[in-house]
Amino acid sequence: MVSVTEALVTPAAPARPTARRPVDARRVALAEGFLGDWQRINREATIPHCIERLESSGVMDNLRRLVGESDAPFRGPEFADSDLYKTLEAIGWEAAGGDASEFDGFVAESFRLLAAAQEDDGYLDSYYQGPRRGERFTNLAQGHEMYKLGHLVQAAIAWHHAGRDELLEIALRYVDLVHATFGEGGSDDIDGHPEIETALVELARITGDDRHRALARRMLDLRGHGTIGEGQFGSAYYQDHVPVKQAREAMGHVVRQLYLLAGIADVEADDAGAGYRDALDALWTSVHEHKQYVTGGLGSRHRGESFGDPYELPADRAYSETCAAIANLQWNWRMLLLDGAPKYVDEMERGLYNAIAVSTSQDGRAYFYSNPLQLRTGHTHEEDAPSTRLDWYFCACCPPNLARLMASIHSYLVTETDDAVQFQLYAAGRYDFGDVAARVETSYPWDETIRVVFDAPTTRVAQFRIPSWARAATIAIDGGSAVEAAPGYAEAPVGTTSVELVIPVGAEFVRANPRADGARGTLALRRGPVYYCIEEADLPAGTRLEDVTIPATPVAVEAGEDPRLNVPVLDIPGAAALEPSPLLYSEDVSEPGAHAIGTVRAIPYFRWANRSAGAMRVWIPTRAD
Ligand SMILES: [Zn+2]
Repeated sequence: MVSVTEALVTPAAPARPTARRPVDARRVALAEGFLGDWQRINREATIPHCIERLESSGVMDNLRRLVGESDAPFRGPEFADSDLYKTLEAIGWEAAGGDASEFDGFVAESFRLLAAAQEDDGYLDSYYQGPRRGERFTNLAQGHEMYKLGHLVQAAIAWHHAGRDELLEIALRYVDLVHATFGEGGSDDIDGHPEIETALVELARITGDDRHRALARRMLDLRGHGTIGEGQFGSAYYQDHVPVKQAREAMGHVVRQLYLLAGIADVEADDAGAGYRDALDALWTSVHEHKQYVTGGLGSRHRGESFGDPYELPADRAYSETCAAIANLQWNWRMLLLDGAPKYVDEMERGLYNAIAVSTSQDGRAYFYSNPLQLRTGHTHEEDAPSTRLDWYFCACCPPNLARLMASIHSYLVTETDDAVQFQLYAAGRYDFGDVAARVETSYPWDETIRVVFDAPTTRVAQFRIPSWARAATIAIDGGSAVEAAPGYAEAPVGTTSVELVIPVGAEFVRANPRADGARGTLALRRGPVYYCIEEADLPAGTRLEDVTIPATPVAVEAGEDPRLNVPVLDIPGAAALEPSPLLYSEDVSEPGAHAIGTVRAIPYFRWANRSAGAMRVWIPTRAD
């Protein structure tokens, strides 16, 4: 039997007291609303869709062939097993919250196949037991073996929280093999794709076995000495270019960088003074103040799926992989627990309502891999940057990653300390902190009002995050008069029974730092935390999206709700369409002529490409009034 300690049901629960504690996910129940609806669609559509595609794309057959139940050749990339693990993790979080019996058949089949395919020494990997049999641990740079194991461990932890340890026993047998092979005194080789580090720390937390955390720390400290080599994209691609503690700039493959940072934050949380904090802070600034898209997207280059230089943020060539935005949310959550600063939640919110939300269709069954901020008229198809969401990908890392995030999203909304509870992200639902329990009623982010009704007078201070972008937010306690609440946290004292927050979500235009010259001469439109875009589907016939300009000091007018998109839309009066000459370049340096097209409609960025394929842009060019 697996020996485990009593653990909070949550994706990351620091082993030592940190600035903020997570709340057990079973104590949060989302109601109808933005996040509640999304979580329901995730369960009813996205998870079943992932299950179908795991069958049709060959992931399940890759395991069946190992146990003599399939003659099909191996299909998919070498890390295909991780798509299964992420889907199992999603179902595990659903099961941890109660009943997920509609997935029982798939779960039983998956657990059976994984147990049957596992080798006697614990090894389990359908690629290196399949077409590359005999080559295990020979190509850690590219093979993703530890990455896959990390996802297996995370799925096993979710299922442990659901009260079932079959997967945890499988994962622990494999982890023991990794201890024997790569632990102290063993091989100093490291995996090219971080991910196992954060999984090992959480494994240490739920089992109480500190060896797993020590192995994670060993893997962190072996990184950055160039042992992996340059490969095709240089050692930064593998996060092996600089020792972790000395890193000061976000570099290389974005998802690898961000999963690594999540693992570093976990180690720093558990081993106070472990020495990683300066690197965490410097890289946080590098990511969020120099290299992040306004949507929360990350990754400016398709080549190497990598960060660019500071301020290198092209809208149309943004890579902005869905997994990167998810990884950034996970890292920021860990930083919040470690440190308590609201800036981490601001970034979680930015990503969630924009770069993450845009990745999935309204029905939850089609996905973007790359999430650019502009799609040009006539964009030709590329698999990782298509003009519409696809129902699956050869490299299908993103859809099941989305599934596991949304199945656990209620874990990321509130925190607590001994003397306070914190409402970090707002979603309608019930929140139970034990001695303090409340119902939150809100249509945020569409509506500005958030009503919090406590079951009984509070026995701890209640703190409410006011986003950094909010202006003139107010808090009214127990029906009293509203008082202004500055960005940060507004507080309600012990004894409070109800709170009404108003976080105005009026439309505002946003300008980029001029050094981000990919966005110079343009403005973006934000309504609350939600960024908007203009889309070809809303333009007058014959108007090309690239020609559209808006006034230099534009306004945006509420235009009701689009019934097809089920979201508020905004109108920008005074738009015009440029009439450029057909010449690509010309010595005539005067501004091209333009004709008025009246009002141009803006819709939430995350809803684009739900009506038809077509051009789109977030950054809208302005012209002199
Ligand atoms: Zn991905």
